[in-house]
Amino acid sequence: SVVTRFAPSPTGALHIGGARTALFNWLFARGNGGKFLLRIEDTDKARSTDENRQAILDGLTWLGLDWDGEPSSQAANAARHADIAHELLDAGKAYKCFSTPEEIEAFREKARAEKTSTLFRSPWRDVPESEHPDAPYVIRIKAPREGSTTLHDAVQGDVTWANDQLDDMILLRSDGTPVYMLAVVVDDHDMGVTHVIRGDDHLANAFRQNLIYEAMGWDKPTLAHIPLIFGPDGKKLSKRHGATGAAEYQAMGYPAAGMRNYLARLGWSHGDDEFFSDAEAKEWFNLEGIGKSPARFDFKKLENLCGQHIAVANDAALLQELQSFRKSVALPALTETQAEGMLRAMYCLKERAKTFPELTEKAHFVLTERPIVPDEKAAKQLDDVSRGILKELTPQLQNASWSRDALEGAVASTAEAHDMKLGKLAGPLRAALAGRAVSPSVFDMMLVLGRDETIARLKDASA
Ligand code: GLU
Repeated sequence: SVVTRFAPSPTGALHIGGARTALFNWLFARGNGGKFLLRIEDTDKARSTDENRQAILDGLTWLGLDWDGEPSSQAANAARHADIAHELLDAGKAYKCFSTPEEIEAFREKARAEKTSTLFRSPWRDVPESEHPDAPYVIRIKAPREGSTTLHDAVQGDVTWANDQLDDMILLRSDGTPVYMLAVVVDDHDMGVTHVIRGDDHLANAFRQNLIYEAMGWDKPTLAHIPLIFGPDGKKLSKRHGATGAAEYQAMGYPAAGMRNYLARLGWSHGDDEFFSDAEAKEWFNLEGIGKSPARFDFKKLENLCGQHIAVANDAALLQELQSFRKSVALPALTETQAEGMLRAMYCLKERAKTFPELTEKAHFVLTERPIVPDEKAAKQLDDVSRGILKELTPQLQNASWSRDALEGAVASTAEAHDMKLGKLAGPLRAALAGRAVSPSVFDMMLVLGRDETIARLKDASA
């Protein structure tokens, strides 16, 4: 059965590219009844921090990408990695190399001068143990020097490398610490990883890692190297284009479902489908649908999908996610009263809101309490004339049955009596009810607020 993994290095927070890699691995595992594992590649002690590790876990949690079991630490497995290096040594698939850094540098200088390959060819590859000095050594793998290696990649197709392009890579340093390339292969093997889905900046590594699979005689995982993400201008996505960290998108208030949908479409496609649910994404996701050329980040499309996901979301779930959003940006939680108002209003709030801040702004009329303090734009709507008209409208509303038709009728007849268009009256009415120039429709607000609150707000405004 399928086992995938996401293997971030905690040398930075979760990047949009990493989030997409994690998503692809998650979708593939979940869609195939498999496991999605998390491995923290923390072997670079100098640059790995606990803070980054936590930020990565938080980012994945926000995106709803749940992993199976506990996250593993690559650094914690160093002894196992070293054991494998020794196993290869004992099997004659690796050797002790006593060349000093100075000797290697001298070799490279000579090669550069003679314009021959600078790939280091160790003189120790075939020297018998009996002739070894008592000196520090590294363990190197015996890489093939003739012929070529072809790897099949589910995205890139067959990729071929000449073997004389590969050096006898170091497996174990002279201080006994394993190199990263060895750690990745041993961990993937031990974790039972069946599919390695990662950025195509790791494609060259796959050839080096392949040497270890070959030498150990281990089953190789299916490879899928996905193209990097570009900005709208076709250059590698960077700060210049806008936010690149997952946490920044969380802080801007994009809903996680919209983010997942958008990231899934970033380099993967399923016919013409743009907007889809998690269930559909899990069912449809496959390696064949991953494109060969870099996807371009499109902020408009992200917003559009987020708006669609908010529109179809379950009201209670949306409220809960709004509360999490507020917590993540250190805003106070909505009170019970505010939350109740929000739930009653949700049906008219969630149309056309693309982010949680937008949803909150539209909800201002239920989040605020009397007396409503109009903002500058709204205040302009409440001149003497319109306040007079609101005063006239109030008793009519008081007697109207509280249905959309009756409310529309009362407002329309008042407007008519003053020879004004209905829309003209909506401005002052909106200002009185919401204190804002932008809000849901006045009828939706009246229905949500109810008779008493509506009348009270109109009286406040026209007093
Ligand atoms: N730790 C690597 C990275 O963050 C991933 C290596 C891999 O997926 O094999 O780029």
